[in-house]
Amino acid sequence: MLLTITTTREPADDLGFLLHKHPARFQSFDLSFGKARVFFPEAGPERCSACLMLDVDPVGLVRGKGQGDGLLGQYVNDRPYAASSLLSVAMVEVFRTAMQGRCDDRPGLAETSIPLSARLDVLPVRGGEAFLRSIFEPLGYAVEATRHPLDPTFPDWGDSRCFSVVISAETTLARLLTQLYVLIPVFDDAKHYYVGDAETEKLLAKGAGWLESHPQKAEIARRYLKHRPSLYREALARLRPETPEGIDDDEGPAAAKVEEDVERPMSLNDQRLGAVLGALRGAGARRVLDLGCGEGKLIRLLLEDASFTEIVGVDVSIRALGIAAERLHLDRLPENQAARVKLMQGSLTYRDRRLEGFDAAACVEVVEHLDPPRLEAFERAAFEFARPATVVLTTPNREYNVTWENVGPDRLRHPDHRFEWTRAQFRAWAESVARRFGYAVRFVAVGPEDPALGPPTQMGVFNRET
Ligand code: SAH
Repeated sequence: MLLTITTTREPADDLGFLLHKHPARFQSFDLSFGKARVFFPEAGPERCSACLMLDVDPVGLVRGKGQGDGLLGQYVNDRPYAASSLLSVAMVEVFRTAMQGRCDDRPGLAETSIPLSARLDVLPVRGGEAFLRSIFEPLGYAVEATRHPLDPTFPDWGDSRCFSVVISAETTLARLLTQLYVLIPVFDDAKHYYVGDAETEKLLAKGAGWLESHPQKAEIARRYLKHRPSLYREALARLRPETPEGIDDDEGPAAAKVEEDVERPMSLNDQRLGAVLGALRGAGARRVLDLGCGEGKLIRLLLEDASFTEIVGVDVSIRALGIAAERLHLDRLPENQAARVKLMQGSLTYRDRRLEGFDAAACVEVVEHLDPPRLEAFERAAFEFARPATVVLTTPNREYNVTWENVGPDRLRHPDHRFEWTRAQFRAWAESVARRFGYAVRFVAVGPEDPALGPPTQMGVFNRET
């Protein structure tokens, strides 16, 4: 789960003061159901973003609890990836002071409306985009929403109920955070802890000043209080002391009666692409390379975001490029969309002038396909010659493989992998590359992290220093 807050009010890095978090630090918070991390993918004077990333331990979440949705449903679910009430819980834990609107270091700023946006990478929305807009727009937010397919590889499967959502407005940070706190579980419409009287009090407290006059307040209260008529009737009565309208005793509206969507849990691949996308966005990249683009899964996501103005996918495999062109419907895209993307055959172990001058390069699950003696050639081609300002590179964490039964006899994940690195090996390689070519590197864990073995995927984000 990833929440990204961005401001462009200068000096933008005052966001660190507002959130009470130091932009140069990567901070980790232990919560009962997982780990929250706060980091600033960008912290300049003109634009600053803070990410709250939540790693939920789905096993820890149900351990010690009674039977609920059936045994499998308890362990196999989308909790770790989809923004849910757990994210709201993490927000209060991590941003408590900011949510109270306090900022002693920058007096006045916390009360000032500033240009803010919040991005949620995977937000389950029961009721779809229309519902999403009906909630945020009356609060003055501009809404950008992109629906995620159930599986990008199989478009016929249709859409999932998850969206990438960006909301923007001139508002105070406390108001933005508080509204998200209330609304995230409302969209999800499935709270994951007991709802009781304390929830009513919370809703009234957090909704003060905006919920009373919201045209959808009945539905917000109904969902927030998990369709318990006695609770939401009371809440609504207290929100506006006249007879609440649109409330009946039996059931909620049609959207609420819909059977629980059967949703495929988000795959590691989706999480990985989400993390890469987040890092590219965080770098403010507009012109990007996808080195070893394969069948174009990342390119598809990049195309959906207009901030990427030029996208170049490179792969050595003509076959993979053919599949990519087909999946992306390159021949059918409107001209202005098609103009943004180019697929090229090339090898990453040779200098290629076509790859010079880009803002960023992604290199997703590719290095482990290179023969170790060719690795140095790749390093030079990417970091010395192509030399983008940012390189986002992922590779498997070999230590994690023991948790899977179906890895091959050589204990590698794929027959074409020439090697897989442990965390220490990847770190040593990445730090050496960074040192030799004048980059700074930071490491991001992708996927559910095992306390002893680390995450399934490791990601390095390299930023050019000179
Ligand atoms: N990035 C994609 C594909 C990963 S598979 C994804 O995440 O889905 C690795 C890809 O690297 C394959 O498509 C393979 O053809 C490509 N590749 C391997 N060696 C390469 C080389 N030397 N130059 C360019 N591409 C290479």
